[in-house]
Amino acid sequence: MGVRQLKGFNEALLGKWCWRMLVDRDELWYRVLAVRYGEEDGRLEDGARSGSTWWTEVVKIRDVIGGGGNGWFSESVVRRVGDGEATLFWHDRWCGDVALRERFSKLFDLALNKSITVKDMFLHGWGEGGGGWQWRGRLWVWEEDLLAECMLLLSDVSLQPLSYDVWQWLLDPSGGYSVRGVYVMLTSQENPQVLQNTKLIWHKQIPLNVSIFAWRLLRDHLPTKSNLASRGVIDTEAYQCVSSCAQVEDARHLFLLCPCLGSLWPLVRSWMVSMVLTMLKFLITLFSLLIIQVVRNPGDPFFSLYGFLQFGCYGIKEMLDYLNRNNAL
Ligand SMILES: [Zn+2]
Repeated sequence: MGVRQLKGFNEALLGKWCWRMLVDRDELWYRVLAVRYGEEDGRLEDGARSGSTWWTEVVKIRDVIGGGGNGWFSESVVRRVGDGEATLFWHDRWCGDVALRERFSKLFDLALNKSITVKDMFLHGWGEGGGGWQWRGRLWVWEEDLLAECMLLLSDVSLQPLSYDVWQWLLDPSGGYSVRGVYVMLTSQENPQVLQNTKLIWHKQIPLNVSIFAWRLLRDHLPTKSNLASRGVIDTEAYQCVSSCAQVEDARHLFLLCPCLGSLWPLVRSWMVSMVLTMLKFLITLFSLLIIQVVRNPGDPFFSLYGFLQFGCYGIKEMLDYLNRNNAL
């Protein structure tokens, strides 16, 4: 076993404890740790310097967020909210890829009830003017903007009154955390796709509603017919693709495999490629015109060089047109 494998194996074992801290809280060991290190808002405290070596390592894995695959634990675990009763609105990472406390830290500072659950927040109302929003003082205009952004994020959430809130392990949503699976992930060359994707999705320059859509797509949260059928919203027999290709309509089918709708992607791609090429041609022409204006001397090596470039990029016809036009000027 190489060093990397050993490190991966060790981390995978420690990560198992982080996972159990989320899902096995009734066990004796959890209570022992809670007494030893303290617990706040359903989360064991890090114990600062009083922690054992083991505990320090566990906390390190649990608390690192983002950054070149180091935050693999926090980025691989997600809260699936059912009725919202066992999920803390501000503290748990249940909506988006970070806790609302981090994403909207200013609002969190101003919130009166910091330990409110998702369910209570929803019941009091988290829409415009909803009773869930209780502040220590008046909001400034830019804080109102933050609030609007937060409400937009929430407008997409629907609680499931009949199911419980659960933690889900993204690498294996049905089986949960496995040391073997995590070891393979940590030691494989391509680090987990999940981590790469979240950074791309929640980019500052991407509009929030696009981020939310992509996020729901990757977590298979979109209201595809197969999802709606499995939740009992529509008849279980009515799962067929909207393009009437007679196959099951799930996210994979809709966006990639569908013979009808899937063919949109190559079209979009070729449209983008031709856009880029047109832009490139335009820039080269502009640049050449500029050079010609400056140099003006046909025998100049600059002219030949850019003329040649143009010829290569442009083709004979355009080149001749261009020269004719140039002569006519
Ligand atoms: Zn289809």
